[in-house]
Amino acid sequence: MEVIIENIAAYLIVIAFIALLFYYYIHQHKKKTQSTKKKIAKAKELGFHEPVSLHPVVNHDICIGSGACVAACPEKDILGLVNGKSTTINASRCVGHGACFHACPVQAISLCIGTEKRGVELPHISEEFETTIPGIFIAGELGGMGLIKNAVEQGKQAMNYLAPKLKSKSNTNYDVVIVGAGPAGISASLEATKQKLKFVTLEQDTLGGTVSNFPRAKIVMTSPMELPLHGKVKLTETSKSELLELWNEVLSKNNIIINELEKVEKIEKQGDLIIVQTTKNHYTTKSVLLAIGRRGSPRKLDVPGEQKEKVYYRLLEPELIHNQKVLVVGGGDSAIENALLLADENNKVTLSYRNESFSRLKPKNLERINNYSKNGKVKVILNSEVIEIFDNSVMLKVSNENNPLVLENDLVYIFAGGILPTKFLEEIGIRITKKFGEAVLKHS
Ligand SMILES: Cc1cc2nc3c(=O)[nH]c(=O)nc-3n(C[C@H](O)[C@H](O)[C@H](O)COP(=O)(O)OP(=O)(O)OC[C@H]3O[C@@H](n4cnc5c(N)ncnc54)[C@H](O)[C@@H]3O)c2cc1C
Repeated sequence: MEVIIENIAAYLIVIAFIALLFYYYIHQHKKKTQSTKKKIAKAKELGFHEPVSLHPVVNHDICIGSGACVAACPEKDILGLVNGKSTTINASRCVGHGACFHACPVQAISLCIGTEKRGVELPHISEEFETTIPGIFIAGELGGMGLIKNAVEQGKQAMNYLAPKLKSKSNTNYDVVIVGAGPAGISASLEATKQKLKFVTLEQDTLGGTVSNFPRAKIVMTSPMELPLHGKVKLTETSKSELLELWNEVLSKNNIIINELEKVEKIEKQGDLIIVQTTKNHYTTKSVLLAIGRRGSPRKLDVPGEQKEKVYYRLLEPELIHNQKVLVVGGGDSAIENALLLADENNKVTLSYRNESFSRLKPKNLERINNYSKNGKVKVILNSEVIEIFDNSVMLKVSNENNPLVLENDLVYIFAGGILPTKFLEEIGIRITKKFGEAVLKHS
């Protein structure tokens, strides 16, 4: 009898334990679902939910809700779990690491570009990186595939394909003009040196491309890559400064000079020749490699005085700017983040934004700018537009005010978004098509 009671007790304990485990599982499941749903609602409110370019697409018929993709993503909150299935949250923030794709144990994820509703324009490129205009090649993110490692690999490969094609007998100054000095352009420049080509690399801004615009503290995730004339770079987690240092070192070791602050404005084909027109010069070449990424060029205000040296389109070292009267123009995250950084360095900051309120801001930025404005650390002037920039002042038009507002000023930072490279490519004559959700990374 005693044994039976003992057995029943043991069974009951086991059943209770299983029930507890089950309850715990259901509770966690619900908690995750609620948390993800909240994040999705916020992402929708802020306009980050809809993908803009590369993003993961989860096949819910296959997904088992392991959460491996959520844990693997280095950017955080791109994916979350709802009712045991992986779902996108801030899809527009995906940078295409593909970590989710590789982490999924049941191959339920593919990486797609564009959506059914929102197409993404991509240039036509052959397997050898040549566009529909013979002699003009594309490498890196402009071709659709992001990430530093891919850009480095493509820059090198494109140069390898292009070099044997330089058969034209035309007398040109260059074999190839490389446009853009991000990871793709840097790697292409190194490979061009290795191949002993006559080349020049033109960069509208400074060396590093998108990487040079990363926040100082950002952890850059990458995979080991092969850099021409250097060898294997065994970095997985690194920083912006470490990467820039490495590129600078390799370039200078090989005596490669990048023509910074020289923007390519026009590319024209004249028979076998290609003419590259920049803001400073023009070049005749047998071929061109476009490594210009997808972020385009900063949008200008087109106001008198904008060409002055005190006007900038990005802020690299806020810690070096103190006690200045600064105007920051724009209402997006970049404008706000930079205005806050400048205010923290004891500058007198005015933020001019043309709309009546901020929208699509990261919640933390919205909260901080409201606090800084309340505390007088940043003077926010909504509904305002810059009319003219003078040496020691700026003139703004504020709606509902009859007279323009003149502010004393030392520096102007403009963050008015970018002009995408599509128009530039169309003007060259390169064929472009829209991709509506095509998979760029999928399991066969
Ligand atoms: C917020 C964010 C975080 C990211 N994090 C990571 C990460 O952790 N790991 C990772 O691997 N990738 C990351 N990426 C993606 C990565 O930065 C890009 O995929 C990569 O930089 C693409 O390299 P690229 O050389 O093709 O283009 P870009 O780096 O964009 O370089 C293009 C260059 O061309 C120049 N250019 C453009 N037009 C002209 C013109 N007309 N004339 C002259 N020059 C011109 C630009 O100024 C720029 O310097 C991130 C991207 C973003 C936005």
